[in-house]
Amino acid sequence: MKIYNTLTKKVEEFIPNEPGRVKMYTCGPTVYHFAHIGNLRCYIFEDVLEKTLNYLGYSVKRVMNITDVGHLTSDADSGEDKMLKGARRENKSVLQIADFYTEAFKKDIKELNIKWPEVVAKATDNIEEYIIIINELLNKEYAYQSGGNIYFDTSKLVDYYKLTNHKIDEMVVGSRAGVEEDINKKNQADFVLWFTKSKFEDQELKWDSPWGLGYPGWHIECSGICMKYLGENLDIHCGGIDNIFPHHTNEIAQSEAFLGHKWCNFWVHGEHLNDETGKMSKSKGDFLTISLLKEKGYDPLAYRFMCLNTSYRKVLVFSYEALDNAVKAYEKLKNKVRILNIEGDIDEEKYLEYDNKFKESIADDLNTANAITLIYEVLKSNISSATKYKLIKNWDEVLSLDLLKKDFDDKSLDKDYIEQKIKERDEAKKLKNYELADQIRYNLEEEGIILKDTKNGTMYEKII
Ligand code: AMP
Ligand code: ZN
Repeated sequence: MKIYNTLTKKVEEFIPNEPGRVKMYTCGPTVYHFAHIGNLRCYIFEDVLEKTLNYLGYSVKRVMNITDVGHLTSDADSGEDKMLKGARRENKSVLQIADFYTEAFKKDIKELNIKWPEVVAKATDNIEEYIIIINELLNKEYAYQSGGNIYFDTSKLVDYYKLTNHKIDEMVVGSRAGVEEDINKKNQADFVLWFTKSKFEDQELKWDSPWGLGYPGWHIECSGICMKYLGENLDIHCGGIDNIFPHHTNEIAQSEAFLGHKWCNFWVHGEHLNDETGKMSKSKGDFLTISLLKEKGYDPLAYRFMCLNTSYRKVLVFSYEALDNAVKAYEKLKNKVRILNIEGDIDEEKYLEYDNKFKESIADDLNTANAITLIYEVLKSNISSATKYKLIKNWDEVLSLDLLKKDFDDKSLDKDYIEQKIKERDEAKKLKNYELADQIRYNLEEEGIILKDTKNGTMYEKII
């Protein structure tokens, strides 16, 4: 398999440390708000990567963190704690916020057919790991105490910037516009491992440590959780491209200083989802979620389909027009696949020929767009229907588009039919015939369709 490695800036042959086994770490969400569909694009790409490795015969152990403390508004350790900000916004405790948005995240992941990683660990459950690492970094003089906090001393490393493509002065955190300088740092790029002096009196979560009551920085959480569950040698570390600096750069610095050797061989990053104004981000306030798309009547898997039609390394610009086109193509494809006849002989030779082509596509730096084109090719070909069915069924283990799921009768899949019923219900309501309106809603529910009245009109969704 070939994959683009941010560390070497090349598409490389993927070779794990242990033949056939892959240790994979993916940065998880900061649970202070709903995940937006940009964040979820990143989790879709990581899911495809894990499933591709499985399809190519590797067994994968994947670990992900849930950040519920220490991630400040700026990734460069300044600003307010995001969790605290979320708690204040909703007049709740940090723990309530963390629980609520972790559950919401799980729901989004499920809606998008993303596999929940084998290990998912909360940052607040692993404080002792960070303390062990920080202690060792202090002993080795890679870290220092200043103004109450413990910092990593980036000047101790000759290759601190090895993951980034940028010029050093552009990357130095203090030189970024809008980021205030921390006078306790020896070097501008140094970052916090442990805070004891919080700028916020009401910081809710604090733990005892050899340096006083405090809380961990965001970067140390990923290193600590990753090494705890995956050991000293990691094969793949993923995240969105905004994580390259400072987050992943700092993870490498502290992990390799702690271990005394190279930590991870492959760094794989997903490009962003942009809206018309630029990168979709929670700080902009106006962001799209899966539940909002569902409210508008979109199937989350149509969004997954849209993502898979673009390389994970290219910027994807979201627009409703693009999503509508994806919906049309996705519905058409499903309709073609769902009428395939399962009965009959499998043409083994053709099966292998097409399956090898599929493997070549996904092994080519996750070329999912090619893999989808191959489905159309198979559907058009003159191989037996049963062979087509078997191919697409197996490929859907990687694509996870539910191409073969037949959980509704034809009537409930018929949009014209549903829209006609919605119209009849609207008319009944206008005539104040609420009994008929309720009956229409009830009948649709019996057929697997739920109606939702929104300010943009009545939307519907399928019951899974
Ligand atoms: P967060 O919850 O903010 O820590 O982000 C979760 C993941 O989503 C990280 O791996 C980010 O790199 C990624 N991410 C953030 N914004 C976007 C975006 N607009 N498009 C794609 N991925 C993103
Ligand atoms: Zn991380």
